[in-house]
Amino acid sequence: MLYFAQPSTRTYLSFNNACQILGIQTSDMRSSGYSSEVKGESLEDTLETMHSYTDMIIMRHVEENIAEKAAWMFNESEKPIPVINAGSGPHEHPTQALLDAYTLHRAFKGKVKNKTIAIIGDIKRGRAVRSLIYMLSNFEGIRFVFLSPPELGLPDDLRQFLGKNSIPFEESDNLDKLLRRADVFYYTRIQDEYDKQHESKSIDYSRFWLKKEHLSHMKSEAVILHPLPRRNEIPPEIDGDKRAWYWKQEVNGLWMRTAIIAHVFKEDGYILNYK
Ligand code: ASP
Repeated sequence: MLYFAQPSTRTYLSFNNACQILGIQTSDMRSSGYSSEVKGESLEDTLETMHSYTDMIIMRHVEENIAEKAAWMFNESEKPIPVINAGSGPHEHPTQALLDAYTLHRAFKGKVKNKTIAIIGDIKRGRAVRSLIYMLSNFEGIRFVFLSPPELGLPDDLRQFLGKNSIPFEESDNLDKLLRRADVFYYTRIQDEYDKQHESKSIDYSRFWLKKEHLSHMKSEAVILHPLPRRNEIPPEIDGDKRAWYWKQEVNGLWMRTAIIAHVFKEDGYILNYK
């Protein structure tokens, strides 16, 4: 069951195509506006129905802990089925973090440790960013530099997490100084769907955007990532640079999600033999 109650292009398509690669049939619901939730059904009852008809639920929903809640519900039932969180509001996006880590593993030929990771953009509300910080904190010698307009800076819970785990980090607002130092530039768009009153409109993010002239100052082995969709953070003229990994990153999303589903169904061997 692909239940996507928030917009999605890559996550939905890559999960859907991953199922096809694995020979899995899918049902989908691409908006809660098409479900009986609009008739007043509770989300729990909607999930219960999906649970009755399918063997796995891959879900994106604005509610922060609903994937965990669904997993608890199903574990208590006679038919425990797996639930995959495909994005939970501004909270987490764990499969994105896995594909990001896999992309870095490929880009650095297995040597992801001791890297300086610049994370640029909406750090406060970016679920991809939050999950990536948790993920990369597992690698030795990682240092983060956060670059964002002050309104969208590092939230307290992440600050505490990094402090508690003694992961070094800095906050900066100077892209030029960072160019020569960072090994990874992870760009994100402003997550204005979570605005309360269009407050992002007055935020100037343009001073952090990457420009073609910046490339000559960056390390030759640097890696530029973006979970996409992009707006103006990275201009298309940079796409051809060998350090621009974001289109490969989205392809890796297809294979990472195929691997995740195969693994959950204990069919890991299948993907190794896929031609
Ligand atoms: N596609 C990513 C997400 O769903 C990033 C974004 O939307 O900005 O979180």
